[in-house]
Amino acid sequence: MGVTKVTTKILIMGYSIAIDGPAGAGKSTIAKEVAKKLGFIYVDTGAMYRAMALFFLRRGISPEDTKRIEEECEQVNISIQYQQGVQVVLLNGENVNHLIRTEEVGKMASATSTNGQVRRKLVALQQELAQSCCVVMDGRDIGTCVLPSADVKVYLTADSKVRAKRRYLELKEKGEVCDLNTIEEDIKARDLQDMNRKISPLRQAQDAVLIDSSQLSPQEVMEKIYLLVQETGYRENKE
Ligand code: C5P
Repeated sequence: MGVTKVTTKILIMGYSIAIDGPAGAGKSTIAKEVAKKLGFIYVDTGAMYRAMALFFLRRGISPEDTKRIEEECEQVNISIQYQQGVQVVLLNGENVNHLIRTEEVGKMASATSTNGQVRRKLVALQQELAQSCCVVMDGRDIGTCVLPSADVKVYLTADSKVRAKRRYLELKEKGEVCDLNTIEEDIKARDLQDMNRKISPLRQAQDAVLIDSSQLSPQEVMEKIYLLVQETGYRENKE
C-alpha cells in the first residue's frame, strides 16, 4: 500500500508563513519548496510589484512622477493564477512572468513600491489570497504589514557578497551578460531603498525568526522553517 498524505485541516485553515528579507537572500527558492512540501500556495509578492513596474516602464513613466504613478496605478489590473502549481502574474490579463525578472524591472519595482497607492492596491490583493487558502508568502513587508498574524514569520538574509554571487549565477545560467560587482552594488542600493522608505520599509518583524543563509544550503534553511512550523502545532498525518 502506498503512503497517503492527509493534512490536518482544522489546524491549518488559513495557515500562513511569512518570509521577508533583502534581495537575493533565497526567499523564493525556499518559499516554493516549503509550500510544495506542505501543500500550500506560494505567493511571490515581489512579482506583483515587478508587474506593476513593467506597466510603468512600458508607459514611460518616471519613478519620480508620483502623480502619474497614482493615476495610472488605478487603471492597472494585476492578478494571480496558478498553472500546474506555478504562480502566473497577469498584467491586464497578459502573462508577464517571462518579462519581469530583469534588473531593470527590479530597480523600477524598488523605486515605485515606495508609493502608498501602489502598496495599498497590492497589499489588498495579497491579503485576499491569504484569506482564501494556506500560503507561504515572500516579500519585504509580509510579517510586518501584510500578514501581521502569520503563524510563522521568518526574516531570511545573507551576506551581500553571497547574495550577489547567487544572483550572478542565476543570470548567467539564463544566458544574461552580467558583472558581479555591478550586481552587488545594485543589490545594496535596492536594500537601502527598501529599508529606508517611509511606508512599510523592509525590516525584521519583532516576532520573526532570523535565518542567515550565508553558510546554509537551501535544504538546511528549509528544515529550519519546517521545524518552526511543527513548533506551532502543525502536523501532517501520514497513513
Ligand atoms: O523580491 P523581488 O526582488 O522580486 O522584489 C522586487 C521589489 O519589489 C523589491 O526590491 C521591493 O522594493 C518590492 N517589494 C516590496 N514589497 C514586497 C515585495 C517586493 O516592496 N512585499
